[in-house]
Amino acid sequence: MQARPATRDERHSLDSCLDGLRSGSPLSRENANRLIRANDEDVPVLLSASLEAKQRFKPDVITYSRKVFLPLTNLCRDYCGYCTFRRDPGDAGAHTMTPEEVLEVARQGEKVGCTEALFSLGDKPEIIFPEMRETLRHLGYKSTLHYLESMCELVLRETMLLPHPNPGLLSAEWIKRLAAVSPSMGLMLETTNDSLLAPGAAHDNAPDKVPAKRLKTIEEAGKQQVPFTTGLLIGIGESPEDRVDTLLAIRELHRRYGHIQEVIVQNFRVKPAIPMRNWPEPSHGEMLRTVAVARLLMPDINIQAPPNLSAPYYDDLLDAGINDWGGISPLTPDFINPEKPWPHLDQLKLRTEAKGYSLLQRLPVYPEFIPAVAARPSLLAEKVKVAVERGHNQRRAA
Ligand code: SF4
Repeated sequence: MQARPATRDERHSLDSCLDGLRSGSPLSRENANRLIRANDEDVPVLLSASLEAKQRFKPDVITYSRKVFLPLTNLCRDYCGYCTFRRDPGDAGAHTMTPEEVLEVARQGEKVGCTEALFSLGDKPEIIFPEMRETLRHLGYKSTLHYLESMCELVLRETMLLPHPNPGLLSAEWIKRLAAVSPSMGLMLETTNDSLLAPGAAHDNAPDKVPAKRLKTIEEAGKQQVPFTTGLLIGIGESPEDRVDTLLAIRELHRRYGHIQEVIVQNFRVKPAIPMRNWPEPSHGEMLRTVAVARLLMPDINIQAPPNLSAPYYDDLLDAGINDWGGISPLTPDFINPEKPWPHLDQLKLRTEAKGYSLLQRLPVYPEFIPAVAARPSLLAEKVKVAVERGHNQRRAA
């Protein structure tokens, strides 16, 4: 990031690009690149513009989803340089949940008011691990995705939680199958920069992180009108301009299909046992600039940033224009970032209210996408309608 003071010309061009936004012009790539490299002294002006955009979109409210985290399997065929979640068979902590474990955690979550069952899992581990093929055979399934589908259906049928799976790349057929048992799903685009696949880079030896393949999955979800969560991961070797390109790729898919329900801006955090343990973390300032540019590029899309990855200064993210804290669990740890616990919900509420917003619980599928899901004649639609009704009743009783 630049630290030197802006020249008069730079100040003028920043002001004129923000004035253009206020008068309703969409943010161009060129101006987004300028804003994401804003000087420190210009950041307050940038944040004030992004906050205005957030307030026009969803005024005075910040949402979150109360969830349980279900790490269905932490075996994965990819080896991302920043990942602390994945295991090989035989590693300490390698585990595939049984149906009984899935149901037990979901039922505990139900008791503490959770409405989301977030299924996070490694990508197609059975392709390279015979041990996973054996586990699946023992459980009675042909693949991890068949098992996931069945566990989503189990949670949907037996509890009041709504599944939200994050299983990695998906074909058109698997999007259709999972959409029958979950109102929404997700895949982080992370970055559109192919050079992160090069030897020694973050996605070296991660065949499922090819940007074109991830864009294809997100596009297919769009063709099928599946409410979809995606986002970018910053600080893994990409440039600020790459972040803008990633956001523009998401914006373009949403323009074509209208299905992006939220964009997560996630920051890389160092962990001791990962290949990227010596990489610098992105600064708080970079995070705020990226969130602000995301908001200005996508003024009508929900923008989320996880509070635990920006603690203790996470409430600054509200100033940059997020309108959602994402999934927060009162029960299960963040298995992806276990060293960064989620803030207690009371703390999150206090700090959100201190900035002048109400904190509201939402379902894993955002309100604006519920009518389409609830219109489908199925168990899923029934469960979504019940969850909406329960939410209304709880708010009336509060
Ligand atoms: S980030 Fe996801 S795809 Fe990459 S290694 Fe970890 S679990 Fe696998």
